[in-house]
Amino acid sequence: MPRSSSSRRASKWQRQGTGARPLEESLAGMRRYQEAPDGGWIVQEVRPNDSGRVYTCPGCRQDVSAASAHIVAWLDDGPFGTTGVENRRHWHKACFASRQRRR
Ligand SMILES: [Zn+2]
Repeated sequence: MPRSSSSRRASKWQRQGTGARPLEESLAGMRRYQEAPDGGWIVQEVRPNDSGRVYTCPGCRQDVSAASAHIVAWLDDGPFGTTGVENRRHWHKACFASRQRRR
């Protein structure tokens, strides 16, 4: 019942006043498109958050902690839309930037 209450939402934001935001929120703001020789990438910068999640960086196969700033990126599928989103990966910034040198 209280789900639709906007005041409840406001209190949630106040409670999280440390700057930590839900992952989906932090993903929403900083998406950009990046043309590269290996394709068109959708790149989102992820701010450090306390979700506690750990991902595996495709570049170095090391852990990417959600507690550190990193990048989520996936290849844009062009006219066929958003299936690339399911293939998104969490990268260290440096690894994403240098991914083509690793080939
Ligand atoms: Zn890495």
